[in-house]
Amino acid sequence: MKWWPGRKQTTREKENRSAATSSVTGGPPLIETGAMLTVDLDAIASNWQMLATRVSPAECAAVVKADAYGCGVREVAAALAAAGCKTFFVAFLSEARAIREITKDATIYVLNGVPPGGAAGFAGVNARPVIGNMGELVEWDAFCSVHSWSGGAALHFDSGMNRLGLSMADAPALTTRLKNPEHGIALVMSHLACADEPEHPLNTVQIQRFREVRMMFRGIGASLANSSGIFLGPATHCDLVRPGAALYGINPTPGSANPMRPVVELMGRIAQVRTVPKGESVGYGASWTARRDTRVAVIAVGYGDGHLGATAALAGEQPAVMVAGKRCPVLGRISMDLIGVDVSALPEKNVRRGDFAVLIGEGLSVDEVARHADTIGYEVLTNLGRRHHRVWTFSLPPPQ
Ligand SMILES: *Cc1c(COP(=O)(O)O)cnc(C)c1O
Repeated sequence: MKWWPGRKQTTREKENRSAATSSVTGGPPLIETGAMLTVDLDAIASNWQMLATRVSPAECAAVVKADAYGCGVREVAAALAAAGCKTFFVAFLSEARAIREITKDATIYVLNGVPPGGAAGFAGVNARPVIGNMGELVEWDAFCSVHSWSGGAALHFDSGMNRLGLSMADAPALTTRLKNPEHGIALVMSHLACADEPEHPLNTVQIQRFREVRMMFRGIGASLANSSGIFLGPATHCDLVRPGAALYGINPTPGSANPMRPVVELMGRIAQVRTVPKGESVGYGASWTARRDTRVAVIAVGYGDGHLGATAALAGEQPAVMVAGKRCPVLGRISMDLIGVDVSALPEKNVRRGDFAVLIGEGLSVDEVARHADTIGYEVLTNLGRRHHRVWTFSLPPPQ
């Protein structure tokens, strides 16, 4: 099997089969952009493997919705499939189709279920809807019987999040379906609202309610845990876990050390370095004023690249960028395409026009960047700009 379905190997890769890592690129060429986004596919595979080992004998799926949390769904799904992942979760059918193009055998669940009139598409892609209300279930059943479709579906029960999901009260009536050999229920699932807060009382309530669902649907696979849920312990593992964030290096155990490998690196090009005299301000709104002569590196990344509007005032934690291995504070507001940072602490020769600064990566985790913008890592990753030059790194499989 080719590691990379449909991908042509470059000559360098062919000559260099023993090289440790290789890469594919996407987006505009680097020279035409302000930033380079690198996604370490080996780290994603290794994060998945770590979780799979942790939850064994339960199965570990992968949540790859929203373009695999901004990391590139085709590349990520291919890497995970090669690592042994057999079940994928997405939010929409269009996302399921992208995965189906990469793997024929994978089981694909669509979390947002079937929109009115949308059932036929699921058969076309061979994806399973996650059904979350009675109207949807009736429509899906009608489609399946008219078209003799038996691709299966998941039933999502709401155990306390009050977002999607069939009501717990409907569960007993639905179990009578199990007497029919073509009942079509491939999985029962629910979703935890507060898994990232282990002490939150709702966790225990939801675990208990989902236990009741499992008892009613004995013999059907069951799934409850997202990334943080996995770390609540074996009571949440059931038959299948659904990590997303942790695969991409977001800390599933906030407040404790991050057990996952970092995945994403964002490097921004320094467009120019200038000296701002004492008393002058930097950027829109003149919100930062130099208290002394300050050397400012202007980096060609902004909120137009999805780099969220870090403002020191909002965050209570000084937003920073790594330049030449040193943390440099962000000055004033972030513009659409530019950020100013104070590089006065660095020797002049270490900061030059054309150099790259690290906006996410070594010394600056996704979770920290999120705190700077008063948000969560999920939002930072799913906002990663389409303007960046992209690089996916991976190890080649051993020659066959
Ligand atoms: C997004 C999502 C997940 C993955 O959650 P993470 O916190 O990213 O691990 C799992 N289950 C459902 C229902 C989801 O919507």
